[in-house]
Amino acid sequence: MQLPIPLLFASNNLHKAEEIRSIAGLTCKIITLREAGIEIDIPEPHLSFHDNALEKSRTIYQLTHKNCFSEDSGLEVPALGGAPGVRSARYAHEKATDEENIEKLLQEMKELGDRTAYFKTIISLQFEGGEFFFEGGCSGQILLQKKGSAGFGYDPIFIPDGSTLSFAEMSSAEKNQFSHREKAVRKMLSFLQSK
Ligand code: IMP
Repeated sequence: MQLPIPLLFASNNLHKAEEIRSIAGLTCKIITLREAGIEIDIPEPHLSFHDNALEKSRTIYQLTHKNCFSEDSGLEVPALGGAPGVRSARYAHEKATDEENIEKLLQEMKELGDRTAYFKTIISLQFEGGEFFFEGGCSGQILLQKKGSAGFGYDPIFIPDGSTLSFAEMSSAEKNQFSHREKAVRKMLSFLQSK
């Protein structure tokens, strides 16, 4: 297959798009919904990352009939029974900001000794008429307070195992050495390169 492979990214999250582009390099040309002139807020009504990712990629495929992918991701804290999980973006309330979600999580974890956490990404790819899935994870710890200002979401309170820096103290390239999204995207790229 001729490179770069054009792929629509079924998301309005420009932080995610930037991270994915820096991983995809010359293998894929990642086209955001905005660049494709598509204005849509895709719902995430399901109880699993897998089902939400599938809903997003199918919605955009049905609209465009072009090769596309989506990703659903979030943070799981075992000491909170896996919360915030699929509700990561809406943990504090439906229209919560990153700031509000972080505050809620720090509050919920105030008394907890076990600060282990796990970021998870599921990619759903619609490619040449088939549906494919790729998964990535990243283990780490939740800090007692915010550190750093880069990135998005829970980046300022998450330190991946093997680092002394939070995700929000890293460049995209540094974060990609650890991140859940990087692992899932690499699997998708290997798959596409084998086509
Ligand atoms: P969704 O995949 O659009 O439902 O959003 C996932 C949510 O999980 C984001 O809004 C963030 O709150 C959180 N999240 C996912 N990946 C990351 C990450 O790499 N850093 C920080 N937060 C993340």
